[in-house]
Amino acid sequence: MGADSVYPRYVTKDFVPFDPIGLAKKTEQIVVKDNKRKYTDFYVVRVYRGISTGYTVGCNFRCFYCWSDESRDFPESYGKFYSPEEAFESLAGAARRKGVSKIRISGAEPTLGKRHLVELLGLVEDSEFSLFILETNGTILGVDEDYVEQISKFKKVYLRVSLKAGNAEGFSWRTGAMADSFEFPFRAIQNLWDHRVSFHCAAMTDPRIMPSKERQQLLEKLAGISRDLARNLEEEVIDPYPNTLSRLKKAGVNIRFRI
Ligand code: SF4
Repeated sequence: MGADSVYPRYVTKDFVPFDPIGLAKKTEQIVVKDNKRKYTDFYVVRVYRGISTGYTVGCNFRCFYCWSDESRDFPESYGKFYSPEEAFESLAGAARRKGVSKIRISGAEPTLGKRHLVELLGLVEDSEFSLFILETNGTILGVDEDYVEQISKFKKVYLRVSLKAGNAEGFSWRTGAMADSFEFPFRAIQNLWDHRVSFHCAAMTDPRIMPSKERQQLLEKLAGISRDLARNLEEEVIDPYPNTLSRLKKAGVNIRFRI
């Protein structure tokens, strides 16, 4: 068995689906050490009208349209470890230099490293910053309701849950994860709803990779939790970033871009 079958890097044509919770644990062994989490950088970007961003290393999905840099695929080779205090100071320093009041963690999957993230959220809660945006694929929050309960105590936290599919087959094809984990992100949404956390859902509904019937299935699943979630769905399309093009090619997915 080769290293890449033990630790999957990309979706390929003959890919064997993986357990995303198992992959989360394997990735945490690489990107979390003594409550320190790996980040590659901290900087302010223009989205959300200016937000200080921590770029995390490592994910438990392998979406073929992913734009993240190579640290997603080779987490052992990228980033430096930061304690919650060090990550907060880096985020705060970038925010203060550019005069922005919002903070987020993005890049890969920020919910890896539960204790690190909860402590970081506590530091933001007690700070001058007004909002912390957490962008997640939702898998871990779907199987760990206690994690959602802890997050619900922070009033400055807002989540963006990024969905990948409207049915199990599409989910496994796009993410590389086993089809029977398709429900996990929807369970996360139910948990967030039940614990009254502020959030909205986004989804990769690009018609080049998601048939209209599947998009409808996704909207119906969301509407089953709340019609507002379906109505306010943020829909995404694939952008031709170099890393995205490379991953699409490895997965054997041919789509056209206007460049
Ligand atoms: S798109 Fe998001 S969830 Fe999918 S592999 Fe990239 S970072 Fe992970």
